[in-house]
Amino acid sequence: NLQDKLNQAFKTLKGQGRITEINVAATVKEVRRALTDADVNYKVAKEVTDRVKEKALDRKVLIAVEPGQLFVKIVQEELTELMGGEAEGINLKGDPAIILIAGLQGSGKTTFSGKLAAFLKKQGRNVLLTACDIYRPAAIDQLKVLGEQVGVEVYAEPENKNAVEIAQNALAHARKTGKKVVIVDTAGRLAVDEVMMKEVENLKKALNPSETLFVVDSMTGQDAVNTAKTFNDRLNFDGVVLTKLDGDARGGAALSIRGVVQKPIKFMSTGEKMEALDIFYPDRMASRILGMGDVISLVERAQQAFDEDEAKRISSKMRQNKFDFNDFRGQLQQIKKMGNIKDLIGMIPGMGKMMKDVDIDNDSFKPIEAIIGSMTPIERERPDIIDGNRKKRIASGSGTSIQEVNNLLKQFDEMRKMMKKMNQMNSSGKLSKMMK
Ligand code: GDP
Ligand code: MG
Repeated sequence: NLQDKLNQAFKTLKGQGRITEINVAATVKEVRRALTDADVNYKVAKEVTDRVKEKALDRKVLIAVEPGQLFVKIVQEELTELMGGEAEGINLKGDPAIILIAGLQGSGKTTFSGKLAAFLKKQGRNVLLTACDIYRPAAIDQLKVLGEQVGVEVYAEPENKNAVEIAQNALAHARKTGKKVVIVDTAGRLAVDEVMMKEVENLKKALNPSETLFVVDSMTGQDAVNTAKTFNDRLNFDGVVLTKLDGDARGGAALSIRGVVQKPIKFMSTGEKMEALDIFYPDRMASRILGMGDVISLVERAQQAFDEDEAKRISSKMRQNKFDFNDFRGQLQQIKKMGNIKDLIGMIPGMGKMMKDVDIDNDSFKPIEAIIGSMTPIERERPDIIDGNRKKRIASGSGTSIQEVNNLLKQFDEMRKMMKKMNQMNSSGKLSKMMK
């Protein structure tokens, strides 16, 4: 994929070898090829790499202390520009504000509708979801399930086959019940077709939404770009939602769409869970494409999922070196709430690639949770009292081996030592400096 290819391209520069102008030229060429392979239009790729080369020479990459890093930074800046530079928010003008969701079948519209509802609800907005997929009864149920999951009302008329009418009734219902945002989920087809286009077009005309979002599956590569163009020509949408960015980190679609349709990517979606939605930040995406990981999104996701009071309680216990297995178990549960472990790992710099073939998922916690579950309350609070006999009992109680119990105890002990060190650093002010 693109990330691997770019990393390959940077290898020469990152290595210990001397950097020469020839190296730079060769690397620039490889970067260009990596971009075109990732479906970035040749002309755009050439422009980008020409600027990279110019900047690299300007900033004296050749004599920099860490030439490879400087070079990667320059590429990162150019990719950021290519994707629009700044993050663009969603327009919520109107009372209620109307958000129309369009895209092909299977692109992730219904899933995104649920996520967006949850996202806006978290901001304290009163949201109504509207099911306008009139062809598949299952689609209405799907939206209802998601609505229930995120605690947002879903408006549907299973018998009605007129999408515009349903949406207008939904609007009336929203006004009556004081909803401030109405999200309209529509039907898609497997490929662009006239009936579908006409239908969304009619919806857009009738509703005059403050925001029309085009949802596209990032795994579809060049097709994603073509579909975006076709939809934009008809709908003149306001923004793009890039879905399924979990799994393989495909940057190709993100890099090309902006250039082709001149519309910002506003959200990205990295999993099936309702939490797996992020605002699209071009600079973070560029870092992610370059393999630096998307640490900031990860931290933000963590902040959303973590219960603030619980976090305060835990950090105070950490500070007093009283963090125990009860707290540890609580943390595992919090992590699981954040979404799929694999998605999360993909956001850590360098980890995505390392863990690509490793089989880790939320089930990986099961033995750990079983072991903790088999401890007595006293043992959880004071793991130091766990002797050989207790270990034997815990192992058989949790269906694990003494070896596994030992491993967990050892890891836990190391974790506590690390916390102690961090506390010391923190009290001397080093950590807070590092976190800035
Ligand atoms: P729609 O036909 O456009 O409404 O698409 P759906 O919302 O029904 O999604 C189609 C399939 O893709 C479902 O199985 C979703 O769970 C899945 N899906 C949606 N978004 C994502 C995502 O960001 N990542 C992954 N892995 N799956 C997704
Ligand atoms: Mg759907």
